[in-house]
Amino acid sequence: MGRVAFLGLGHMGAPMALNLVRAGYRVTGFDVVPAAIEAAQAQGVPVAGSAIDALAGADLVLTMFPSGRHVLDAYRGADGEPGLLAAAHPGTMFLDCSTINVDEAREAARLAVEAGHRSVDAPVSGGVVGAEAGTLTFMAGGEPADFEAVRPLLEVMGKRVVHCGGHGAGQAAKICNNLILGISMIAVSEAFVLGEKLGLTHQALFDVASAASGQCWALTTNCPVPGPVPASPANRDYQPGFASTLMAKDLNLAVNALHSTGVAGQMGALAAQIYDRFAAEGGAARDFSAIITEIRNASGQPAGDAAAGEPSEAGLPGPRRTTTAHDDGSPE
Ligand code: NAD
Repeated sequence: MGRVAFLGLGHMGAPMALNLVRAGYRVTGFDVVPAAIEAAQAQGVPVAGSAIDALAGADLVLTMFPSGRHVLDAYRGADGEPGLLAAAHPGTMFLDCSTINVDEAREAARLAVEAGHRSVDAPVSGGVVGAEAGTLTFMAGGEPADFEAVRPLLEVMGKRVVHCGGHGAGQAAKICNNLILGISMIAVSEAFVLGEKLGLTHQALFDVASAASGQCWALTTNCPVPGPVPASPANRDYQPGFASTLMAKDLNLAVNALHSTGVAGQMGALAAQIYDRFAAEGGAARDFSAIITEIRNASGQPAGDAAAGEPSEAGLPGPRRTTTAHDDGSPE
């Protein structure tokens, strides 16, 4: 690939663009928000004054936008702005790394191919930390030859790059994975709160479930209670990590796909509602594992571990330790 037009210099896009610059790619960045352009430029990303200027001489157009509407509007042109597809020279590679609906990704690819271009959808996981470190995972959808053409560039920004199938398959893989993740985090959190009510310590439940059939990433890597997994966000008052608002977004994309395909995914729909409510009621910027605090509140359960004391005479754990603080010492 020669020149890269990098559009969308937000939390993820700016560090991804910078990694391409550092790897020697000739990048021109643009964002509709002037402050985002200035910040990226200050870090060393060459920028242009408009999307169309950024496209000049570009062989690849990478978009990192908030939603599918942004992608489709930019491709087609909207609000008097010219469309990217019409402005690009024939055969340009359109690489969309945003997380969007599967149907929108397929539509974006169809429009690109119809306009004489090439298209790959490649959403990411790994968050801002992964974007900065160049350790993202890319899930790609598109023609095999097109995937191979973008693979070297993706490998600069990520450490794992998976070709999942045709157009839209990258988005499909991403939302199917996050459907599992959203549901499993709620399940793990409900189990910990139930364990607290039953007098079980966090460590005891972790020691059993992490070596038994309850084992999953939500438990063993992103454990929603502080203690058993020292690096999990629960140990830093749920600083993300993966923010609840992004989990809510991805679950809603999954629900859209459940509806459009006719899949009876009841747990996914419920998980989306639970995260929507949590995000709307103040949890948006907290790690998605903070959903356990919502479950505790709804259960009338104070924060904190279960009784760590001696078993009672009946052989059951003694009265739970009462506390007015989170386990990390921050106020209730
Ligand atoms: P962000 O809102 O910080 O950045 C998006 C940027 O796109 C904004 O700066 C916005 O001004 C810009 N933009 C919108 N329309 C544009 C246009 N037509 N031309 C140029 N710029 C335009 O969002 P983000 O956190 O960087 O996330 C980007 C995408 O990556 C989203 O789809 C998100 O779901 C996905 N994602 C984010 C994370 C994360 O941890 N932040 C993790 C995985 C995936």
